[in-house]
Amino acid sequence: MRKSMCITYIVEDKLYVNITNKCSNRCEFCIRNNGDGAYGSDSLWLLREPTREEILESIFSHDLTKFPELVFCGYGEPTYRLDDAVFVAKSVKKHNKNIKVRINTNGHSDLINSRDTSPEYEGAFDTVSISLNTPTAEKYQDLCHSVYGEKSFDSLLAFAGRVKEFVPVVQLSAVKQTLNSEEIELCRKIAGELGVTLRLRDYIPPET
Ligand code: SF4
Repeated sequence: MRKSMCITYIVEDKLYVNITNKCSNRCEFCIRNNGDGAYGSDSLWLLREPTREEILESIFSHDLTKFPELVFCGYGEPTYRLDDAVFVAKSVKKHNKNIKVRINTNGHSDLINSRDTSPEYEGAFDTVSISLNTPTAEKYQDLCHSVYGEKSFDSLLAFAGRVKEFVPVVQLSAVKQTLNSEEIELCRKIAGELGVTLRLRDYIPPET
């Protein structure tokens, strides 16, 4: 595995931020299974976790007026560094009023940080995108192999329900190719009951 200090990378017109490689899941469809980078980036396996200052320096090395959205995503679960992500997001927003900030998360924020983290998202993130992945706890564990076991599924749903009180947009996501049509409908139902949207995305195959 090749490592680098690739903190920011561009996906289409968005600037992505990579702050940790830690993750509480081992999803079978994870892009990390496909190689060292994504979308032509350098390796997203970090030599070490960057400091807040290094993250801000990397973000501000770009002309932020060119990006409508900054996305905390990376090659890991960004809520392992929730305090740092919130600090960086608020710092960026202070200087760039127009940029929107999204965090892509597996929804384990409360389990990882051992507290109700939802109020901390206010003022930092405009969108929280949570990987729902499956309509049941059992299938979630089969597909995502969470270190928290089946309770991770109910925890992510509870987090989704709470965090929508603090951010403008909350969406659940799932990978189309891992679900049948009945499961997709069940995911839609879950999203509807939570009052959030469901985003179905394509599996990202290994680069050839
Ligand atoms: S939660 Fe995200 S980073 Fe973690 S294994 Fe799953 S797809 Fe990969």
